[in-house]
Amino acid sequence: MLVDQYQRKISYLRLSVTDRCDFRCQYCMSEDIEFMPKQQMLTIEEMTRLSQIFINLGITKIRLTGGEPLVRRGIDDLIGSLGKNKKLKELTLTTNGSQLDKKYSILKKSGIKRINVSLDSLNAKHFKAITRGGDLNQVLSNLELIKNNIQVKLNVVLMKNVNDHEINDLLNYAIERHFNITFIEQMPLGDIGFDRYNSFIDSDKTKELIESNFSLIKIPLSTGGPADYWKIKNTDTAVGFISPHTHNFCEACNRIRVSADGHLHLCLGQENKINLIDPLRASQSDHEVEKVILEAMLVKPKSHDFDLQSKTQIIRFMSHTGG
Ligand code: SAM
Ligand code: SF4
Repeated sequence: MLVDQYQRKISYLRLSVTDRCDFRCQYCMSEDIEFMPKQQMLTIEEMTRLSQIFINLGITKIRLTGGEPLVRRGIDDLIGSLGKNKKLKELTLTTNGSQLDKKYSILKKSGIKRINVSLDSLNAKHFKAITRGGDLNQVLSNLELIKNNIQVKLNVVLMKNVNDHEINDLLNYAIERHFNITFIEQMPLGDIGFDRYNSFIDSDKTKELIESNFSLIKIPLSTGGPADYWKIKNTDTAVGFISPHTHNFCEACNRIRVSADGHLHLCLGQENKINLIDPLRASQSDHEVEKVILEAMLVKPKSHDFDLQSKTQIIRFMSHTGG
């Protein structure tokens, strides 16, 4: 069992399998983002080995993320082998949904029961603008394809004068399909030239916007993530709020992240990171890597400390560490 210096039990690993993506969402990355050199990235075999080391240390849930996890070459092999791992209670992923048709069969075969899909707009023109090129119809038809076999939770970053006028459409879309939906407060990760400060909407405001048309009932749903959940009255849909700015959830943090270049990030909102790729490549024995991970638990920060006004706080893009 991994336990940090604040006695938080760490059982959830988010593994960023690539920093690359077929979209360029305005709030996530700059248009001309420079990706990490391929030789600096963990290979699929190294990711498989590292995941097994984490599982041996007590990780029971792994979320594959990125960048866009489904564009990573070899991802089927990683999903296939993690899917077979009996010690893992849950394997899941966060995706922009563009490749779900191509990966549907491996997801089903590997027993993936639920996934998060980012969807910030239901208007094809706005969607294309927000994602800088994404095809809304492709994502929507992929959601129709998988929805009966894989439970979907939508992720929305709500932004003033960008997609806030679509909030009811997004909720109705989720309700009609029995999807849950989570609103994420925008975080100051990476210098992207996007006006985060003026487009920022906090969770309290989002909840207020929702409650002008829908009744919300607090529910104790726990998904092992940081969201606070409410049920929309007379529907199957739960609405989650991830509020890193306004409702700090660090006390119950059970997560660590590994970036595609093999660094262990102990907190999304802090710069602390520990190199795992070197010990992994230096030794055939897992013991050295385990030692580094166990020592890292002693420096996991107590909390993040986001501040949108202080320009970009964290130089890393969200797509680097994995959302
Ligand atoms: N490409 C996949 C996707 O978009 O779902 C997975 C990676 S993406 C980085 C994971 C989540 O992070 C997405 O839901 C995205 O909307 C969110 N995200 C990206 N940049 C963000 C930021 N600066 N603040 C808050 N959420 C962000
Ligand atoms: Fe790609 Fe996801 Fe970032 Fe959008 S949010 S650019 S889909 S990694």
